[in-house]
Amino acid sequence: MIYTVNEAGYYGKFGGAYIPEMLYPNVEELRERYLDIINEPAFQQEFQELLHDYVGRPSPLYFAKRLSDLYNTKIYLKREDLNHTGAHKINNTIGQVLLAKRLGKQKIIAETGAGQHGVATATVCALMGLECIVYMGEIDIARQRPNVERMKMLGAKVVPATSGSRTLKDATNEAMRHWINNPTDTHYIIGSVVGPHPYPDMVARFQSVISAEIKQQLQTKEGRDYPDYVIACVGGGSNAAGAFYHFLDNQKVGLIGAEAGGLGIDSGKSAATLALGKIGILHGSKTVLMQTTDGQVVEPHSISAGLDYPGIGPLHAHLSDTQRGQFYSITDDEAMRAGLLVSRTEGIIPAIETAHAFAILTKKTFQVNDVVVICLSGRGDKDLDTYVNYQY
Ligand SMILES: *Cc1c(COP(=O)(O)O)cnc(C)c1O
Repeated sequence: MIYTVNEAGYYGKFGGAYIPEMLYPNVEELRERYLDIINEPAFQQEFQELLHDYVGRPSPLYFAKRLSDLYNTKIYLKREDLNHTGAHKINNTIGQVLLAKRLGKQKIIAETGAGQHGVATATVCALMGLECIVYMGEIDIARQRPNVERMKMLGAKVVPATSGSRTLKDATNEAMRHWINNPTDTHYIIGSVVGPHPYPDMVARFQSVISAEIKQQLQTKEGRDYPDYVIACVGGGSNAAGAFYHFLDNQKVGLIGAEAGGLGIDSGKSAATLALGKIGILHGSKTVLMQTTDGQVVEPHSISAGLDYPGIGPLHAHLSDTQRGQFYSITDDEAMRAGLLVSRTEGIIPAIETAHAFAILTKKTFQVNDVVVICLSGRGDKDLDTYVNYQY
């Protein structure tokens, strides 16, 4: 298992836990207990039951006939957009909230940029009757009104981060500060395969239900339990990690990630971390991140809020470094055209994040008999205004 995390929390040279001393007890408690808890039969039973009855899993693996004809290959869509709350994020928040209960925590905190992870967290806190505080940059609160209203309706408290650029990274700092001050009763739910060990591994395990289902579904539909390629968009990398997970060690499966190229990688307005980044420390993890020559984090840009992140999870940094994974950067324009094409070809409006994964079909040619699975990470209802107002 060269692509899973080692004892010390590393994927090759990436990962680890680079945290202030004050956070050490919280992260250490999690590190010591997460595997035992996740592997308990009673935990698995409760997790699987909620995934089935509350989220609506298994999500379908849909053979996209018209898209397949268009690109002359066999394309299947893993329909995470059909999950409760409309994306893959709920798989992870359900897992973490169950873990938090077993750790005896009564309060949940989270940070959110566009609000998607905040909504997924507020949802599971309502489900479990736990207090929920979501930190969000003041600017993002103004930009993402509907998600703020959803979180409040679900009973969460949304706290504005008013320092710095008043966006995601400041919200993350506020959440960290809260956690340092409330170590015993609070669990911090991180929304992607980022952050200090054990978060990347823990989140990947919760999202791995995606590839576990793909295996079973392909066995039925294709008579073999693996595809030739899996394609996913990559922000922090959680839907990609989940879609890749059970194929990491199967070299017959090509792993392809789509990063957000924004206005183009040379434009200065991009979120293509692997194309532009260098090794450094971000949010407690050694990984690849976009930074200036003197190590300041560069403000990212993408038309999709969910991919607008200056780093990438350590697993993906490792997959790229070892060339086990291929990563493409997709511009805003390419993503928007792909999103429109999928809407008209299959009757499915994808999230703009997901549209980046579809744009891979215009970048790489597949063989006619290749089985290509695209992780349809979320639905595009939230992006309607952006689609409508976009000048193609
Ligand atoms: C948040 C989000 C993403 C990006 O997050 P990952 O951790 O990279 O998966 C992708 N697609 C959708 C629909 C999202 O909401």
